[in-house]
Amino acid sequence: MSANLQCEVIPVTPFQQNCSLVWDTATMRGALVDAGGEIERLLERVRHHGVQLEKLLVTHGHLDHASGVRDLAEQLKLPIEGPQREDLFWIEGLPEAASRYGFPPARSFTPARWLEHGDTVTVGTLEFDVLHCPGHTPGHVVFYHGPSRLAFVGDVLFQGSIGRTDLPRGNHEQLIEAIRTRLFPLGDDNRFVPGHGPISTFGRERRSNPYVGDGVG
Ligand SMILES: [Zn+2]
Repeated sequence: MSANLQCEVIPVTPFQQNCSLVWDTATMRGALVDAGGEIERLLERVRHHGVQLEKLLVTHGHLDHASGVRDLAEQLKLPIEGPQREDLFWIEGLPEAASRYGFPPARSFTPARWLEHGDTVTVGTLEFDVLHCPGHTPGHVVFYHGPSRLAFVGDVLFQGSIGRTDLPRGNHEQLIEAIRTRLFPLGDDNRFVPGHGPISTFGRERRSNPYVGDGVG
């Protein structure tokens, strides 16, 4: 990581989704990436590190990544940035998804800013590139901090696996193409925080991922 970026990964919800608290040590301003739920626990970690939250970032509209977003945004008066607008139908479906999966009630929300490929988002003085990586969901975005060689990839890519594509508007070919044309070219040494499970590097996945590694079709 660069001197200025700090991060704590906080698994939340019964799905153990990796919410990331990221902050800029120069200003102590920060953001939560994918505040999927358990917001009291998230806020305890924010207070623990003495971070001033300035926004909420969302990779995609799935329940385990987004069910805490509306409540946090209202409680702390924070703007929401992301995902890309093709995920609107998932965000609108959050209340129904919450009841279907036995989550606490979740509300839909309207981002202050929908994101597009090539956009930049800021957290304090940190700048993240936005990469649109559809396939798991049509509006899925990845947040990439070049100076730290670190990406927050949501459910696009995991250590040893890839996001599922059997849900509405999932697309396996699109997902593979996004990983190969938008993530792997960033460089083998880059680390990524996936939506579930341990941190890995793009190089490790290129070598050994059975779905999208270099040796796979
Ligand atoms: Zn997902």
